[in-house]
Amino acid sequence: MTDVTIFTRIINREIPATIIYEDDLCIVINDISPQAPVHMLVIPRQPIAKLADASVGNKPLLGHLLWVAGEVARQAGVEEAFRLVINNGQAAGQTVFHLHLHVLADRDASGTFSEANM
Ligand code: AMP
Repeated sequence: MTDVTIFTRIINREIPATIIYEDDLCIVINDISPQAPVHMLVIPRQPIAKLADASVGNKPLLGHLLWVAGEVARQAGVEEAFRLVINNGQAAGQTVFHLHLHVLADRDASGTFSEANM
């Protein structure tokens, strides 16, 4: 898929977003339409359309994205209770075809989720 996604436009600073974290491989932003009190998106700079399109060469990147998810959860103070969601494909709810991990948590990190979201 060669279309420039909204996430690439955010990475290129063409569209504003609240950037929580960034490094050479990825950025983390707040979701514009949060489904939980904490809802962040971990987005690789490389525009892989969906998880199933990742190549064997992408394995280090995929591991890095998981590490970053834990790191931003720690920074948000929700490391004791958070969920990761990856929607792969339109029928699974994917709307932006640029791989991303949803990091979802309640602010109080009480260990339970008040709503069954996503
Ligand atoms: P998915 O449905 O898994 O593809 O998730 C796409 C997510 O991107 C949704 O949760 C949207 O709310 C979010 N989103 C779309 N546009 C923006 C934006 N400009 N800034 C932040 N999040 C966005």
